[in-house]
Amino acid sequence: MVLSDRVYQSAMTSGPSDVYFGSVKHGNTGKFASFAVKVDKVIESLDFSTIEKKDKVAIKMHLGFQDGYQTVPVFFVRRIVQAVKKAGGYPFITDNPTAVYNAVNRGYTAETCGCPLIPVSGVKDGYAEDLDVKFHNVDGLTIAGVMRDADVLVDLTHAKGHNSCGFGGAIKNIALGGFAAKSRWHKIHGVEQSFPYWDSEKCTPEHAKELVKVCPEKVIKYDEEKHKLTVMFGMCNQCMECVKADKDVGCLEIKQENFSLFQELMAVASNEVLKTFDENKRFFLNFALDITPACDCWGMGMPNVVNDVGIIASRDIVAVEVATLDLIAKEGLIERMVPPYYKYLSPDVDLHPFQRLHGKFKNPYLVTDYAEKLGMGSKKYNLIEILSPEETLNMEAPKSVSESEPTFF
Ligand code: SF4
Repeated sequence: MVLSDRVYQSAMTSGPSDVYFGSVKHGNTGKFASFAVKVDKVIESLDFSTIEKKDKVAIKMHLGFQDGYQTVPVFFVRRIVQAVKKAGGYPFITDNPTAVYNAVNRGYTAETCGCPLIPVSGVKDGYAEDLDVKFHNVDGLTIAGVMRDADVLVDLTHAKGHNSCGFGGAIKNIALGGFAAKSRWHKIHGVEQSFPYWDSEKCTPEHAKELVKVCPEKVIKYDEEKHKLTVMFGMCNQCMECVKADKDVGCLEIKQENFSLFQELMAVASNEVLKTFDENKRFFLNFALDITPACDCWGMGMPNVVNDVGIIASRDIVAVEVATLDLIAKEGLIERMVPPYYKYLSPDVDLHPFQRLHGKFKNPYLVTDYAEKLGMGSKKYNLIEILSPEETLNMEAPKSVSESEPTFF
C-alpha cells in the first residue's frame, strides 16, 4: 500500500497510468547510467511524437524570483527544448511576467534554454481571459492568454514543499502559474477565508488582541476599528495555540476546511488550463531535485530538506503528482536541515514530510484526490524506473570518450 492510500482514503475512479522515473542514484560509473542520460530516456518514454509539426509548445515553468536558484536547472531545460524541436514543435518557455523579465539572473535566456521566453499573461499581466468559474468566494478566474494560445503543454516543474498546501508540483505550476496575478493572489489564495472560523459576537476586542499575541507565526491579524479578526492560513502550522487560548470563549476554530479549499480550487483551476489542450498534447515532468520546504516564489535559497529523488514524468497529471509525493515520502525528511523557523515540526514519521513541516491539515495528497474526482487522471500508477541502479550495476559500460563534443585539448 502506498503512503497516499494510508493518509487519505479516496475512491479510485480510473487508472493505473504509466509514470516514468529516473533516479539520481546510479549503479554504474559508465555515463550510460548517469542521471542526464536517464532524463533523456524518460523524455523518450514520455513520447513527444504526438506533438505535430509547427505546434506551439508552451513549456510552463516557474523561473523563480530574486535570489532563488533551486529551480529546474537550465542544463535539463535545454534538453527538453531540443526534444520538442526534434518532434517538430516550436517550443517557448513561459511564466509570470516578472519571473520571465528577470529570468536572466538565474541563468535562463533564449540562448541558454534554446528557445524564447514569453510572459504567460503579456508584459503587463493583462493578456488574459475571464472564465466563468464559481467556487465559494471566487466569482471567476482570469486564465493567462498564452495558455490559451499554445497547442501543446509541457508542464515542467520543480517539485518542492509549499506553505499553503504542503506541496508545489505539476498541478500547482499551472493552477497558479496559468492565471493572471489578480486571480493568483486575491482569489485562489483568498479562498481559504471563505470557510467561517471566527465568531465576532463572541469575541471582545481584548480577547482578539490576546489571540494575536499567542500566535507564534504571527498569522492572526486583528483590525479593531472594524472588529475583524483574520487568520492567514497559508502560514498557519496548526499548532493550535490560539484554540487553546480560546477554549473558555469559543470564538475561533481552525478546521481542515480552511486548508482544503485552496487545494480543491487548485484542482479546479488546473483543470481549466488542461481543458484548453488536447489530451495527447499534455506532458508533465516533475524534477524532484533541491527539495526545499517552501516554494520558488520566496525568491531565496533554502536548505534541501529531502534528498534529491530524480525526474518523474507522465501524461497523467494526477499520477505524476502521487508518484512524486510517494517517492519523496520514501526518501523522508532530513530533520537536521529543517530551518529553525519551522517551529512545530511534527515528530509523527507516518505523516508525509511536507505535513511534518507545514501541519497535518496541509496534506499534500488532497489536491490529487480532488483532481481525480474531476476526471483529470488517476491516483493509481505503474512506476517504470529507467536504468535503475540494480539494473545497471553489473552491466558492461559501452566504450566512451570523456567529451563527445569538439574539444580544445
Ligand atoms: S494554529 Fe495557526 S493561527 Fe493558531 S496559533 Fe498556531 S499558527 Fe497561529
